[in-house]
Amino acid sequence: MIAEAQRRARADALDPAGVLPVVRAQLASLAGAAGTRPVLNATGVVVHTNLGRSPLSEAARAALVDAAGYTDVELDLSTGRRGRRGASLTDALLAAVPEAGGALVVNNGAAALLLATAALAAGREIVVSRGELVEIGDGFRLPALIESGGARLREVGTTNRTHLADYVDALDTDVNEVDSSGVGALLKVHPSNFRVDGFTAEAGVPELGRLARERRVPLVVDLGSGLLGPDAALPQEPDVRTALHEGAQIVTASADKLLGGPQAGLVLGDEELVERLRRHPMARALRVDKLTLAALEATVRDPAQAPVTQARQARPEELRRRCEGLAARLGSTVGEVEVVPSEGRVGGGGAPGVVLDGYAVALPEALAEPLRTGTPAVLGRVHGGRLLLDLRCVPAAEEAALELAVRRAASAVQPTDHR
Ligand SMILES: *Cc1c(COP(=O)(O)O)cnc(C)c1O
Repeated sequence: MIAEAQRRARADALDPAGVLPVVRAQLASLAGAAGTRPVLNATGVVVHTNLGRSPLSEAARAALVDAAGYTDVELDLSTGRRGRRGASLTDALLAAVPEAGGALVVNNGAAALLLATAALAAGREIVVSRGELVEIGDGFRLPALIESGGARLREVGTTNRTHLADYVDALDTDVNEVDSSGVGALLKVHPSNFRVDGFTAEAGVPELGRLARERRVPLVVDLGSGLLGPDAALPQEPDVRTALHEGAQIVTASADKLLGGPQAGLVLGDEELVERLRRHPMARALRVDKLTLAALEATVRDPAQAPVTQARQARPEELRRRCEGLAARLGSTVGEVEVVPSEGRVGGGGAPGVVLDGYAVALPEALAEPLRTGTPAVLGRVHGGRLLLDLRCVPAAEEAALELAVRRAASAVQPTDHR
């Protein structure tokens, strides 16, 4: 496959920059056929949970490699003394989210929520709307997670409608109890993977924030998706800065969804509360390794370079042009080829209902299996008897590898009709 890529590059049929990804993929397959394998994501789903959510930016990959050796993760090189672990990542997060007084990074979004609820409300109550007790995926349920950390759930409202008065009631009943310390926190969860339409009502962050301040209980907001600031392309998607500005005291989010970093969980908010979380014994068990710290810092310092951001923002005309180029290069050598409109998705349980308009190269369905099991593996979408390869999440530099993979799959399917 490498020789073929070289041959095509010499014959000007392939951008020479396209040879490197082919070499990489081939090396990866030689290195460990049984391990996880690189996949070209031609599904059009940007944050693809089954494909490791977010691919890392070049800067994040480089930072990860640099951190693989000895690194100053807990040392201040200017004084030679012990430093706070991951201090430069904390600085980067606080610079990106000026509304936050403190920041903490843990293993994933679930860990962030577990730590927040355990540290603030173990043995006490967490007041949460019945409409926000969500299951995220693979049977993972937020209520079970929260209870496993020792907090008790105090469900208020109904599935479709919850009002501020429901939270007030919960707090009032609490005050009538013996020591009035029954409620550890108010919790608002962004139901990231579904939408409730019709006769609905919810209490927003501003009103809950006011209530929380009045009653001196913290308001924790679990955002999930991890947008640090507002994004005009996703007007319905809540973000960390706005939630804090509106009155959340602690916000938790994933780092590998819309932020586009490595798997991690973010805790941002009130400095003292974040400090309480940091000092909780559980924090040590949930902490991230130096590779994650390095890759996440590079991502936070330059979020525009995150591949998920670029894929999300890819313009339809550009995707069409790329698909037409690929279709023309493939010609009829691989069977019937056509460029068709394709609806991409944000994915990862984020921005449900948002359609990303794009294009795909439609190929015979018979290519789906050889492509999926080839090297690199190529995952498309089978629809209406055809295999659709949506180029939204395939970086331009990997297009050549994709093209070669399609040719190989086609010759495997029709051995007489290759190239
Ligand atoms: C994704 C998500 C989580 C869990 O985050 P992980 O990083 O997958 O652990 C928690 N809450 C919400 C609202 C989410 O969308």
